[in-house]
Amino acid sequence: MNSLVKVFLILILFPSVITAQSPKKNYEYNIDLIHISNNEVRVSFTPPKNSLKQGKFVIPKMIPGIYQAMNFGQYISDFSATDKNGKKIASERLDKNSWKVNDLKKVDKISYKVTNGWNSLQQSTDGPKSAGSLFIKDSVSVINYNSLVGYFEELKDTPYEINIKKNKDFYASSALDYKRKNDSTDIVWAKDYRQLVDSPVLYCVPDTTWLKIGTTEVLVSFYNKKERHYSKKIADDIENILKNQQAYLGGKLPVNKYAFLIYFESSNEKGSIGDGLEHSRSTVCLYRSKSMAFLPDALNRVASHEFFHIITPLHIHSGDIQHYNFLNPTMSKHLWLYEGMTEYATIHMPIKQKMISLVDFEKKLEEKIKGMKEFDNHLPFTEISKNAIERQDQYMNFYQKGPLLSLCLDIRLRELSGGKMGTQDLMQRLMQKYGEDKYFNDDDLFDEITKMTFPQIRSFFRDYIEGTKPVPLKEYLSKVGFDYDEMTGKVSTLANPDSKQIALRKAWINQ
Ligand SMILES: [Zn+2]
Repeated sequence: MNSLVKVFLILILFPSVITAQSPKKNYEYNIDLIHISNNEVRVSFTPPKNSLKQGKFVIPKMIPGIYQAMNFGQYISDFSATDKNGKKIASERLDKNSWKVNDLKKVDKISYKVTNGWNSLQQSTDGPKSAGSLFIKDSVSVINYNSLVGYFEELKDTPYEINIKKNKDFYASSALDYKRKNDSTDIVWAKDYRQLVDSPVLYCVPDTTWLKIGTTEVLVSFYNKKERHYSKKIADDIENILKNQQAYLGGKLPVNKYAFLIYFESSNEKGSIGDGLEHSRSTVCLYRSKSMAFLPDALNRVASHEFFHIITPLHIHSGDIQHYNFLNPTMSKHLWLYEGMTEYATIHMPIKQKMISLVDFEKKLEEKIKGMKEFDNHLPFTEISKNAIERQDQYMNFYQKGPLLSLCLDIRLRELSGGKMGTQDLMQRLMQKYGEDKYFNDDDLFDEITKMTFPQIRSFFRDYIEGTKPVPLKEYLSKVGFDYDEMTGKVSTLANPDSKQIALRKAWINQ
């Protein structure tokens, strides 16, 4: 070998040696789903390279989408930190959900045990619980990383590498891409903690069907102990909705991949239980019932609402959502947008896309109007949103009054633009302005939307969303040729609409 070649070889070999030995910049986690004892999972990780004297390790108290303290730290035990020689490094539990670790720079490994969150789907009286928790059984696991994985407050916004030991026949269904490391180990990466928690995974022998909606790959993954070939039926059922949603959103969907993770537990007990939690690129649905007969209908409803969340909050959200604080989150004022506008799209899309009749559409509006009356409508929507944790009693109104406010905003925008612009266009413009990685300031959103649209829109927000004026349904529905009888709650088309009303209705619902 001549000396020139030798030098060249040293040059290309040397850097790789350095990379292999230098500590990583990411969290490197190991989770063992095979060796479970006493209903506990063994978890360990190596923290990212750092020079910290001390660190505060956090397991979430709260997670996005559930407006109450879940205290996932309560399931953690046997927490210990060691250096590279296996020598213990002092750590101490600060409270239910956090630990202080000394000499963090010297820590090579932290390990702990996690107790299973649930064993069988139970009715919870105060909102979704199981869909955000940990569930591990012999034949299936629903993994929500907020139960298993934590972060150091000093080392936030850092990537994660997760190695999972699992049954060799199991397949990982998730919005993230799991790679096979060997027969019994998968590996997955997330860009930060927020993304990891936002991407649950269903592990089981696969019953999966893939749909292609435009350029988006949609995974439908189903688990039931007995029925092992059901995902195809679900996929066939929701395909039509998803295709119409795609058309409604202008033909192009803003995500490459989306996953429906569906778990069905057969039970001999009376009644059905359902629990679900939406994520940016996936939805977890848990059901327990005697028969699967209700599933297609239930999943159609879920698909039509949850899938629209790829617009907001995924691509249109405030800083409170982008930098969610898992110990003490602050709430955004704009649930009228995240939930109200999303629910409005699920009502507006089917009539605009000619999937339902005008009579069905009127019925839908009547249901929402009736639903809204169950709540206190003298509270500003921005206030309830900001205090969503304390005002659980009013929270469901975002799905009732919320879409009706968006409906009025839609009609107002179409009126002011001569039929050219509605909420569909508004959402596209907001998505272009912000997008997944750029948040809006909570206090500026109404002014920003006003700037993008018409000055009159500011008073709409002031009166009906920040203020407490009743939703102007009668006035706005009459602009598009409908009559709303405030006494009976009936919505019907006017017998003799004028040409202005006909034109605006056409622009609004294509009828
Ligand atoms: Zn929602």
